[in-house]
Amino acid sequence: MNFLALLFRNRLAAMGAVVLSLILALVLITPLLPLVDPDVIDTGNRFKRPFTEGALLGTDHLGRDLLSRLLWGTRLSLAVGFAAAVIAAVIGSAVGIVAGYFGGRVDNVIMRVIDMLMAFPYILLALAIVAALGPGLINALIAVAAVNIPFFARNIRGIAVGLAGREFIDAARLAGMGHMRIMLTELLPNVLPVIIIAMSTTVGWMILETAGLSFLGLGSQPPQADLGSMLGEARAALITAPHTSIVPGVMIFLIVMSINLLGDGVRDALDPRLKSGALSRPMARTKVDRKGPIPAGSDALMDIRELETQFHVKKRVYKAVGGVTLSVRPGECLGVIGESGSGKSVTALSVMGLVASPPGVVTGGAVRLNGEDLLDMPFEKLRQARGDKVAYIFQDPLSTLHPLYKVGDQLVEAIRSHHNVSNREARKKALSLLKDVRIPNAESRLDNYPHEMSGGMRQRVSIAMSLANDPEVIIADEPTTALDVTVQAQILALLDDLRRSRGLAIIFITHDFGVVAQLCDRVAVMYAGRIVEEGPTQEVLDAPAHPYTKRLIACVPELGQGRRELAAIPGLPPVVDNLPEGCAFAPRCDKARDECRMGDVALRGGAPRAGAPRAVRCLFPEEEIA
Ligand code: ADP
Ligand code: MG
Repeated sequence: MNFLALLFRNRLAAMGAVVLSLILALVLITPLLPLVDPDVIDTGNRFKRPFTEGALLGTDHLGRDLLSRLLWGTRLSLAVGFAAAVIAAVIGSAVGIVAGYFGGRVDNVIMRVIDMLMAFPYILLALAIVAALGPGLINALIAVAAVNIPFFARNIRGIAVGLAGREFIDAARLAGMGHMRIMLTELLPNVLPVIIIAMSTTVGWMILETAGLSFLGLGSQPPQADLGSMLGEARAALITAPHTSIVPGVMIFLIVMSINLLGDGVRDALDPRLKSGALSRPMARTKVDRKGPIPAGSDALMDIRELETQFHVKKRVYKAVGGVTLSVRPGECLGVIGESGSGKSVTALSVMGLVASPPGVVTGGAVRLNGEDLLDMPFEKLRQARGDKVAYIFQDPLSTLHPLYKVGDQLVEAIRSHHNVSNREARKKALSLLKDVRIPNAESRLDNYPHEMSGGMRQRVSIAMSLANDPEVIIADEPTTALDVTVQAQILALLDDLRRSRGLAIIFITHDFGVVAQLCDRVAVMYAGRIVEEGPTQEVLDAPAHPYTKRLIACVPELGQGRRELAAIPGLPPVVDNLPEGCAFAPRCDKARDECRMGDVALRGGAPRAGAPRAVRCLFPEEEIA
């Protein structure tokens, strides 16, 4: 259903599908139609024009009814074309899967045979096969299928080689599955979409090839009609009776055109990358559609005010971020903490317009850097600021670093995309960056590929890259989640150092209170897309005001504190396309009363005690913060 909806979004593909279905319907009911016999010769009525009495499309050089010949011929051409495509796909894919799965000598032998077949121009090869087998429609079918097998074998083998080395195949082997079973149940489902795409884009081509062979008299034999032989027979009367050529010609055009349009549509609709955001690539920046008034800013370095980011997927609205206010000053580290799905990453990505649009839309609020609103800044200026003024560190360094470039070159690229410096200077800077993030043997590491480094080392490279242009703000989205604790401690110490020595402002996103305690001056707790508590780290840790914060802290085990029961929070965070009324945490809160489930709960601020103010979004907080 989803697939069809996606397919028909593409107008041309929909048109192709309609035309092709009409033709298919027509040839399927051909035997039931009151048509004259296509092979009956009536030389008295030769070359009758179309739309004459008794012959809707006219007659050919032997007086045979063209409409009847066209429908029966189309039926035959389509059947042969599809049959050839299915045979080529089945045999070719089987060969490709076997070669890719076994690899080594099997692969070598099979692929050299395929290469030999591919070395011939395919139409010559088809002619040679028909010449050897003798003319006839079945032989033409075999020839067309045979010349297309290498195409499928090559395509599928390439994908199967990649898949055969993956962990899930190893797991299947360890589970004791035989080769046949692994190929059928593990490999085949993974390559099936590719086979279907390859088929849908080559069927048209095979119908043409079959028609070509018939045109040359090597396919269907007289008096049997197919589209190719009809064209071949009409050739002699091309000038005097053009309709005899036009009728089969138009049909071939319609079939091949509609199959190709539909094939393109199928390919796009099957591409999983295009599934989430309809059939469009994300825009260069997040769409901004602010309805309400734009809130005033403060004098902070980075100031996020009442930011609202939503995902509009068909009729559904996912309120991922529902009015978040945060700010950082130079040299300050702000922790943002919350369970996964609470909207931390979307908040962070909204800052520089990096949320994919569609489906993402910023529907309200403002994000200011040095007083300038990033949300309505001209794109070129925003692009300049990305990575230069505000840099990101993401969770998984293996997916942020390019796998095929050396890390030194990637650092140089990051520097040179913002600063007009020579390659040598940039390389010197890259080296000093690697030293700054304490990578041992930095000189030789510059020439490493990402896969030659350990996880902690790669994350250091990511940090070095984010520092490359001396940004004012670094947004780190769970940068240590994938690392082990000793490396995590080193990376945290490094970030702490850097912000003190360079006056960096850091927004540090995590789900770990231990990390916040180590690094952050202030902390904001997020739940279901909103800030529920904010304050200086130590105060929040000592006396959490929101029941959610209190329970989140109670989930953290402490070393050397003896045995203590860890209190998991029952239930799950709410789904953001259907938030409960009132406090979003109420369904999971043991303190919730009826008032909590009605109306909006405001974020109440308290007087600043030691420096920064505190705030809590709760009607019955654990601690009075006033
Ligand atoms: P986290 O706090 O773990 O970083 P995210 O910010 O990634 O959470 O996600 C916040 C919410 O936004 C989640 O509920 C998620 O399901 C939703 N969300 C994220 N991306 C999309 C998307 N492309 N379409 C719909 N919902 C999304
Ligand atoms: Mg996240």
